[in-house]
Amino acid sequence: MARSVCPNFSSRIVIDLDAIRANYRAIAARSAPAICGAVVKADAYGLGVAQVAPALYREGCRHFFVAQLCEAFDVRAAVGGDAVITVLNGVDPGCEAVCADGGFIPALSSLSQVERWRDHARSLGRPLPAGLQIDSGMSRLGLAPDAAAALAQDAEFVRRVPLRLILTHLACADEPERAANVDQLAAFRAARSHFPGVPASIANSGGSFLSPDFHLDVVRPGVSLYGVAAGPRAEGLRPVVRLDARVLQIRDVLAGAGVGYGHDYVAPAARRLATIAIGYGDGWPRSLGGRGAAWHGGTRLPIVGRVSMDSLTIDISALPENALAEDDFVELLGPSQKLDMVAHDAGTIAYEILTRLGHRSQRVYVEREP
Ligand SMILES: *Cc1c(COP(=O)(O)O)cnc(C)c1O
Repeated sequence: MARSVCPNFSSRIVIDLDAIRANYRAIAARSAPAICGAVVKADAYGLGVAQVAPALYREGCRHFFVAQLCEAFDVRAAVGGDAVITVLNGVDPGCEAVCADGGFIPALSSLSQVERWRDHARSLGRPLPAGLQIDSGMSRLGLAPDAAAALAQDAEFVRRVPLRLILTHLACADEPERAANVDQLAAFRAARSHFPGVPASIANSGGSFLSPDFHLDVVRPGVSLYGVAAGPRAEGLRPVVRLDARVLQIRDVLAGAGVGYGHDYVAPAARRLATIAIGYGDGWPRSLGGRGAAWHGGTRLPIVGRVSMDSLTIDISALPENALAEDDFVELLGPSQKLDMVAHDAGTIAYEILTRLGHRSQRVYVEREP
């Protein structure tokens, strides 16, 4: 990649693999004796599955969850052969053989997936393990409870498709007081009673921070591994991502100066501005125009005007004269500005900020633990 010959960089993302491992340890300890897996879909929430999955594996994680089959191959290439890799979206038509040959566990989510997987097991003449996803009340993915119960009575299915996991997903896990959580748990408990001996899983990050009733046999946290508090009870997580961008230019403007595309911002008085080298082309949300901020030495520096593809402008008038110079860096994510603050300013959630972080920034991975 051409980037590797660039002697310097415009923006830099530092990903703390030790913090991911510490977050995994914290959630695993909280959820024990349940097994703690790790959701590493969407390139480990944008942070790089090739680096994140091996770090989790070194921490003892042996159950990885992805959304799509292609992602399962990326995990397989990154971790040891003893890891179990489950595909949460199940199996797409025509992918049965590839999924089976790869040794992946599709979380079968509809009757058509069930039929295609069973057909494939029949054609191979050997049992094909799978997971089974039940819709306990989110209306997103999974078999209706009565369809699952019928399947449990289907002797051919039971023989051909040994179930390794039965799972469901919570709609409101990050809101502990919502009645939907206990309703879903009750519906799932009833459904799983038809599958005695099959490990069960309901908890994502938010669910892992609910009462132990929700831990069941396997928890599947994603976002909290990456430092995001899923709900008010998520405590003790370490931040994982730091993002800094370079100051390209500093200028003093007079009252009335228009700044950026469309002159959305017009300086109300003399201001000192800095143009920094990050924009929506780096995944920094365009919706932060006129709303978000960068930080320097604990001072909030508001974004003025629209976010461009490759740059944005901040008002640095609050800083002492020489506190910031061209080619210095300002903080976009780090100790002063948490993911949640950016998500709030951008009108979205931390998940979306993370998964959109661009690949034009230099990426640095830190891991000191063996
Ligand atoms: C994404 C996902 C998870 C992880 O959710 P987080 O909120 O990131 O912890 C767990 N289970 C399923 C089915 C998912 O789609």
